[in-house]
Amino acid sequence: MNQDALMAWYRRVKRPLPWRTDPSPWSILLSEILLQQTQMERGVHYHQKLLKRFPTPESMAKSSVDDVLHLWQGAGYYSRARRLHALSIEVLNKYDGKLPDQYTQLLELPGVGPYTAAAVASIAYSIPVACVDGNIRRVMARQTNLEEPSTKEVQTYADGQLFYNAPGDWNQAMMELGALVCRPRKPSCSQCPVSESCQGRFRAQELPRPKRIKKRLMEYKCVVRIDDDGLPELQQRPENGLFAGLWGPHMAAEVDTNGCEFVGTIRHQLSHRELVVSVWKSDGASGTNPQEVALSTLDRRLLELAGIVTNVP
Ligand code: SF4
Repeated sequence: MNQDALMAWYRRVKRPLPWRTDPSPWSILLSEILLQQTQMERGVHYHQKLLKRFPTPESMAKSSVDDVLHLWQGAGYYSRARRLHALSIEVLNKYDGKLPDQYTQLLELPGVGPYTAAAVASIAYSIPVACVDGNIRRVMARQTNLEEPSTKEVQTYADGQLFYNAPGDWNQAMMELGALVCRPRKPSCSQCPVSESCQGRFRAQELPRPKRIKKRLMEYKCVVRIDDDGLPELQQRPENGLFAGLWGPHMAAEVDTNGCEFVGTIRHQLSHRELVVSVWKSDGASGTNPQEVALSTLDRRLLELAGIVTNVP
């Protein structure tokens, strides 16, 4: 791959994302954790919200996990928020509130895997480690014309391509290439700065072969109980289950729905599961204002189906 061509292209087209204009290690870490499973536009929104409320690891460490979950609501994959809070406490206690500048130390922090550690180490501290994620796998599979490259093959390829003089920019350039040009569908090969070395270009759309994920179907029943003021009864979801720590109406595999009014069914997709939730509503004793607690997107949908306005973005 022509490194100079890719770097020149990146410097010309890179998007002015907030963590690029203000590249503090904490800001970069937040962006990488958010963008793992959140689309760019939403990722920017949540990044700005989090950074405003928690400008440093210390400010997050001194807040409660509920505060973090509250800001995180709607972003999905809530375990990330819980681990981020745990990370901030570890950074405060072990590193005096400063994110460590070694790849191996970053890797030991809660919620930080090889990709995030490599991204923060290279972008924030210019340490030469290559990032590997779905974008890089796709670019690699196409450049080398491999249908199903193994994780090790992708890592070896990424390590071999790394531009040591500017590893942070290089990793971002590879990501940007995957996001803007070498897209999963309809890659813009005619505008690609590294098309000359691309062996799989003639069948790019077929590469790499998608990994099939068979989702587990899970059925639940939910009763939304509403008090005289129109507020729903909400409970905090247990630590060891779905949406741990977030709040929502009572939902379980079996729920007593006697005397309740059926209002509909919601299908909700998670990464490895599809939830089918049948929803009822009935009178309740004492409700909670849904604006004051952290709700998952599913819980918001359940409440809205029962006629509760949540006003959460
Ligand atoms: S030429 Fe096309 S398939 Fe190959 S890396 Fe560029 S955009 Fe991807």
